[in-house]
Amino acid sequence: MFKINDNYLKLPGSYLFSTIAKKVAAFSEANPDKNIIRLGIGDVTQPLAPAIIHSLHKAVDEMAVKETFRGYAPDLGYEFLRSAIAKNDYQDRGCEIAADEIFVSDGAKCDSGNIQEIFSIDNRIAVCDPVYPVYVDTNVMAGRAGTYDPKAETWSDVIYMPCTAENNFAPDLPKETPDIIYLCFPNNPTGSTITKSQLQDWVDYANKVGAVIIYDAAYEAYISEEDVPHTIYECEGARTCAIELRSFSKNAGFTGTRLGFTVIPKELKCGDVSLHSLWARRHGTKYNGAPYIIQRAGEAVYTPEGKAQLKEQIAYYMKNAKVIYEGLKDMGYTVSGGVNAPYIWLKTPDNMTSWEFFDYLLEKANVVGTPGSGFGPSGEGYFRLTAFGTYENTVAAVERMKKL
Ligand SMILES: *Cc1c(COP(=O)(O)O)cnc(C)c1O
Repeated sequence: MFKINDNYLKLPGSYLFSTIAKKVAAFSEANPDKNIIRLGIGDVTQPLAPAIIHSLHKAVDEMAVKETFRGYAPDLGYEFLRSAIAKNDYQDRGCEIAADEIFVSDGAKCDSGNIQEIFSIDNRIAVCDPVYPVYVDTNVMAGRAGTYDPKAETWSDVIYMPCTAENNFAPDLPKETPDIIYLCFPNNPTGSTITKSQLQDWVDYANKVGAVIIYDAAYEAYISEEDVPHTIYECEGARTCAIELRSFSKNAGFTGTRLGFTVIPKELKCGDVSLHSLWARRHGTKYNGAPYIIQRAGEAVYTPEGKAQLKEQIAYYMKNAKVIYEGLKDMGYTVSGGVNAPYIWLKTPDNMTSWEFFDYLLEKANVVGTPGSGFGPSGEGYFRLTAFGTYENTVAAVERMKKL
């Protein structure tokens, strides 16, 4: 008789985005004449850039010809893509990362979920609060999170690092010592960043206490300010304590196309055991990377044409971010983010809870956003709007909010 993994039963009932979808569906059924604007879910809306499409077509044609057909991709991913990543994302920024330290994958969500499998169940994890829910959820499923307190909305064995207005949405070093530290900057959902010297403090701390940092840099392409690091490997000592996760989803529109990568430096070890070699066992199989066609599409991201086209795409989203940020500020909201990330984080007015504000905005302005409380207990009383809509919809949403 089969048994299930009890840890799955510990997950609280409803996933944030399915609750939102249900509420929106109910509202639009009751109000079929209302035009709803969605500034909620973190998905891109602009089509793939021409350079990427060109590369995709070419790779598809290669698959039709005996001489250029490809079967299973090599372990770690194709050399052409890993070299382009190593050069453009790391070496050109003065970071010592080699092509064979890069593991190409089908996206950062899978990697951020799977990476915990190489660590003992006895490790304590620390997470920014609020943050992208995948880190905690996957540790719950693995049995590393302890028990859930539905009232506090916290897990007994997780170390929460509040990111609030008091610390400018940048976590303080935790009081209890964690073994695995998840950091996500630019942050989803707050849009906040930390400076290179703040990140250096984390690297120094991790090396001192023997912790590993899992650094999610999915929004690296949105960084506009000088002193914000693009990768953790800009910090000295990061090669002995940090894993970095990257994605092509938010910088190049690959949310449906699927491509990402994980960096594990060769020096990252637990005693004599290299994490690089462990992840190669877990991940470097011929099956769970990304297809040849998609890796060729990723290569196009690093060509001069690709870079120019994607710069425009990011500028488009960041123009939306500015419309939301400045519009809300003019209306008297307390807002942050939106400068190095496509996310705007606002304090709900009149002490509304996150969900009260969600309902209010949906009913009164027909605008959908994301309740901050869905990203962790410190997100209560906050709300996330995203810059991924069209410019026209973004302007219209802000105009509607002005009339409230
Ligand atoms: C969107 C997102 C990702 C995941 O991207 P993939 O589409 O799975 O590559 C990872 N981390 C954060 C913080 C994200 O917001």
